[in-house]
Amino acid sequence: MDNARVSRSAEAGRAPRIRVSFEFFPPKTAEMEQNLWEAIRRLAPMLPNFVSVTYGAGGSTRERTHATVKRILAETMLTPAAHLTCVAATRAEIDAVIDAYAQAGVRHIVALRGDPPGGVGERFSPHPDGYRNAADLVAGIKRIADIEVSVSAYPEKHPDSATVAADIDMLKAKVDAGATRAITQFFFENSLYFRYLDRVRGAGIDIPIVPGILPVQNFKQARNFAARAGTSVPNWLAARFDGLDDDPATRKLIAAAVAAEQVLDLVDRGVTDFHFYTMNRADLAYAICHLLGLRPGKDQDAACHPERERA
Ligand SMILES: Cc1cc2nc3c(=O)[nH]c(=O)nc-3n(C[C@H](O)[C@H](O)[C@H](O)COP(=O)(O)OP(=O)(O)OC[C@H]3O[C@@H](n4cnc5c(N)ncnc54)[C@H](O)[C@@H]3O)c2cc1C
Repeated sequence: MDNARVSRSAEAGRAPRIRVSFEFFPPKTAEMEQNLWEAIRRLAPMLPNFVSVTYGAGGSTRERTHATVKRILAETMLTPAAHLTCVAATRAEIDAVIDAYAQAGVRHIVALRGDPPGGVGERFSPHPDGYRNAADLVAGIKRIADIEVSVSAYPEKHPDSATVAADIDMLKAKVDAGATRAITQFFFENSLYFRYLDRVRGAGIDIPIVPGILPVQNFKQARNFAARAGTSVPNWLAARFDGLDDDPATRKLIAAAVAAEQVLDLVDRGVTDFHFYTMNRADLAYAICHLLGLRPGKDQDAACHPERERA
């Protein structure tokens, strides 16, 4: 077997430079806020490329997203990326959000169309005075400030999209408008990612297409997310979690094994950047980063105590 896993590559001095990013959602309660910050503090020493904070459906978390991003800026050395959608808001309202981020020192936005206010499956109608789609939003951000923009990508096609080709046309429009990174919807079959990547490259799109990895904390919940996102759930994955509904400890071990298998296979096939959907929990993401060869950085104190670094 010379199919080098990253640990073996590391031994041979051939370890690729792995970069990770972590996604969090803004907390609703004081308890959730505490969980989020435990997760951020645990993961910060992995020195992620950036950490992103989602924007609730219909802009419902506008203030909470902003507050979380600002706290990350104030209390850590991490680079926050604020998610932003076009839904249920005028251009002027969205421009004010972008402007406020720029003023606060945010240098990265994840620009999305967002789901229709009625939920996934409803027809999306842009606000009459709003941004029409994600590409339009990317262009708007670029007009307002010098901010890095990441966008979404769908290895299994977005549920609204008639064809993969239409999906890739939209990705191209987002790149043409100024996006410099795409983060994929989560997927479980790596072959789907590579097939998609081939088509994206064939369309002349050369920005990084960073795989989004969902460590499966809870299989039932992940299956629901997948149904809404258009992600297929292979039978082998269901079989691995079969019979474990009341056994969270074993579920967690299986989840780590499944995610490890997925990311190490991606590394073996040349992937170096990973985006983790953390669900505001650090344990699985931390373990997978460790498997990827990442170790707490020597700046680990500074990662969560900027005053020490800046003093
Ligand atoms: C990495 C990532 C982060 C996300 N973060 C958030 C978040 O913070 N908040 C949130 O609410 N959602 C988030 N989402 C979900 C996202 O908002 C939904 O998937 C939404 O439905 C599409 O937005 P988009 O920018 O991904 O779509 P786009 O890239 O604009 O479109 C996706 C596909 O749908 C097609 N399409 C778009 N509009 C139409 C239409 N009217 N008719 C037919 N086809 C159409 C496009 O052609 C394209 O192929 C995220 C998704 C990903 C992958």
